[in-house]
Amino acid sequence: MIKFSYSYPDGFEDDFRSDFIVDICQVKAREELDNCTAEERVEAETLLSDESIHNLAFCNATELKQEINRIFTGHPVIVDYYNPVMFFSKYNFRFDLLKLDLSRQNIENRDRVTNYKDELLETLFRIKDEKSSLLAQYLHDELKELNTPVEIRDLLRAVQSLHQGKSKPFKDEAPYPSWVKNLSNIFDYEKCRSEYGLQIVKSSNLEVCPFCNNNPIIIAEGKRHIDKPDLDHFYPKSIYPFLAITLSNFVPSCHRCNRTFKRDEDTYVEIIEPELITDTYSDYMHPLVEGTLKSTVFHFLPATDRLTSPTVLVSGFDGFMKNIDLFELKSVYEVDKFVREYKSLKYIFDQKKGLEGSAQDAIDDEEFMAMALKLGQAFNEKNVPNFKFNLDAIESISNLKVNL
Ligand SMILES: [Zn+2]
Repeated sequence: MIKFSYSYPDGFEDDFRSDFIVDICQVKAREELDNCTAEERVEAETLLSDESIHNLAFCNATELKQEINRIFTGHPVIVDYYNPVMFFSKYNFRFDLLKLDLSRQNIENRDRVTNYKDELLETLFRIKDEKSSLLAQYLHDELKELNTPVEIRDLLRAVQSLHQGKSKPFKDEAPYPSWVKNLSNIFDYEKCRSEYGLQIVKSSNLEVCPFCNNNPIIIAEGKRHIDKPDLDHFYPKSIYPFLAITLSNFVPSCHRCNRTFKRDEDTYVEIIEPELITDTYSDYMHPLVEGTLKSTVFHFLPATDRLTSPTVLVSGFDGFMKNIDLFELKSVYEVDKFVREYKSLKYIFDQKKGLEGSAQDAIDDEEFMAMALKLGQAFNEKNVPNFKFNLDAIESISNLKVNL
């Protein structure tokens, strides 16, 4: 994971503010507010005021999590519509009943499902009550009308999807206010991407994907076409549409990290009371906030004899485990290619050590290290694929810390 920051050209943020936030997003928000009922407007205004939209667009990366927490706490209707798993996963359901064979002759199974109806109604009512969930209310009202075990099972299956966060069935049937449904029109990412996407990517000065540190992300500006990296939303816009145009929520990344591995996976870990934080509580690392430069990500088990191969392990550390899992970094690095990389680094390092007399002298030779770490003339790890791998490998081989 490479930590980076944006350096926008002069005038970029002013243009972004006046031509996009003010002229597009705030105008659309006001139109939406004008269509609200008086009651809806009271709630919608706290999110869709000019000031709120501006603050969200320019929110600092370190504050994104608090913003999500604030908006989700203040607007349960948004959680309910965009992230119902957050509500539904906190309740217990009898999903074991979904496995039962409900064919006509299985009277006992059919009765078990039918008998569960009252309990299911009660749980849905509690979600509606405790979380102000319109979706739970809709499901509750639907279920009341159902009588056959197959119908009840089908509804339970929909509840299971919500509980597992797999899909959001029925959300368009439940009576959500239009300002809630239209957030992605107000926080208009498509417009943002087409007008400012290339400039945002360029302003990161990244040449390697910050998530995997493996794939180059080079902009190729041809005469007819431009090939540019993906612009990932660190907090996915499908769940957090109010962060869809937030500059600090954008991370240029490779196609593999963005489209294959991360997709719309939720990267928000709920804020919990400090006394509830245990050893297993860890969070995702946002590359505008933190990087892995100072901590060890890779471990190596050297070959024990001529017949065995060394082993590469993406073992990480507490603050990085969720990223390793999300971006499946083991599948990227725990492969033969990186065993060969390790062997070749070990070979050149041992040669150098032999010439210099000690590992420390080899490490202290800046020219050699620039070559070994493939840094070239300009020392900038943001431009070197697998820099972290090479660094950890050299430190493991030499048993010394490299001073950067
Ligand atoms: Zn990547």
